[in-house]
Amino acid sequence: MRATTLLNKTLGIKFTVVTAVEFAANGLVCDVRPTTTVARCSSCTCRVRKLYDTRQPRLYRHLDFGGMKVHLRYAPRRVDCPRCGVTTEYVPWAAPGSWFTEAFEDTAAFLAQAAAKTVVSTLMRVAWETVGSIIERVVARRRPSDPLDGLTELGVDELSYRRHHEYVTIVTDHATGRVVWAHPGKNADTLRLFFQQLGAERCARLRAVSVDMSQAYITAVREAAPQATLVFDRFHVQRLAHDALDQVRRGEVREAPTEDRKALKNSRFALQKNPWNLSDIERAKLSEVQRTNRKLYRAYLLKETLAAILDRRQHSVAKTKLVEWASWAAHSQLPPFARTAKTVLKHLDGIVAYVATGLSNARAEGLNGKVRAITRRSFGFHSAWSLIAMIFLCCSGITLKPARAYPVPPSTHQTL
Ligand SMILES: [Zn+2]
Repeated sequence: MRATTLLNKTLGIKFTVVTAVEFAANGLVCDVRPTTTVARCSSCTCRVRKLYDTRQPRLYRHLDFGGMKVHLRYAPRRVDCPRCGVTTEYVPWAAPGSWFTEAFEDTAAFLAQAAAKTVVSTLMRVAWETVGSIIERVVARRRPSDPLDGLTELGVDELSYRRHHEYVTIVTDHATGRVVWAHPGKNADTLRLFFQQLGAERCARLRAVSVDMSQAYITAVREAAPQATLVFDRFHVQRLAHDALDQVRRGEVREAPTEDRKALKNSRFALQKNPWNLSDIERAKLSEVQRTNRKLYRAYLLKETLAAILDRRQHSVAKTKLVEWASWAAHSQLPPFARTAKTVLKHLDGIVAYVATGLSNARAEGLNGKVRAITRRSFGFHSAWSLIAMIFLCCSGITLKPARAYPVPPSTHQTL
């Protein structure tokens, strides 16, 4: 069998023929060309007869062959497209502007959905930053053309990255638990962009939108979808109480005599965890706080009580309990909780709406954790858009399979 035939079969790329093969310093180089005689424009895929010029040969990285790097070599022509002007011709093996074949990109993206970043970049032998741009291209061709169709209940969330200096706004469909939109920034204008893309007609069909208690998001939702119920999900309400508790604890650490400081510092996790999740040591730490620091223990009880109220099923009961809680917090002589009480009263209707609708349930919180894990993994990407592409890759329902090639059509034998 000739080497070119062997490679034609092994590479198995549609509309592509291998014309020559040679070894280079770092692996195998295959000269290829498209089987179509008339060139196509890469931006509109139209057939264009008028050629402009031919570029220098370039290398496109393909999947390894028996552990050896494989590059496809081709000198792309430039065409003079009547619609787009002078563009590079379309090649069947790679996306426009990419130096990797689609098979390589799909495999890298498949790995990036699940594996740690060192696994992806070591196995595929590409820099992690490059994986970021690969994912952007894969997401662009795999996402549904209109992911904003049929939305009725939404969640809006801000995500911080780069050590909390930059933000991305994320919109989730509560019905499917999928991320449907994301954009850098976290102000009202960021969210207005989403509503512009959604359009007035689809905005009018929104029944409920859950947001954190930031005025920016509230303003944008009220403008675009005044008919939708604003819901403040428990994740954010409870975070207020967590933060207040932590402020009280830090204040107590500062004022405590030096010998007591360490114990107070160590109580942090015991105070923040759910009581039924405590280890024996943490339970002991908590009783220690109860015995020695009444202020801090009061703060702990405030946090736990708020969580218990949000577990309620009847919204009228929850409303009464929330008002009682706010009054207790306001008179607790703990300034951080007095502030939280004001916030809770200000947003009372939206918090009660959470109890009434049950929106932003465990699923949304699970998604939140997943997105945060992805953010940590994406550290080292060069732009917010690479991070957003990674979030879409993992949380918007994209199913990928690693690329496979077969010597005979797959229908005639068992495929895996
Ligand atoms: Zn064109």
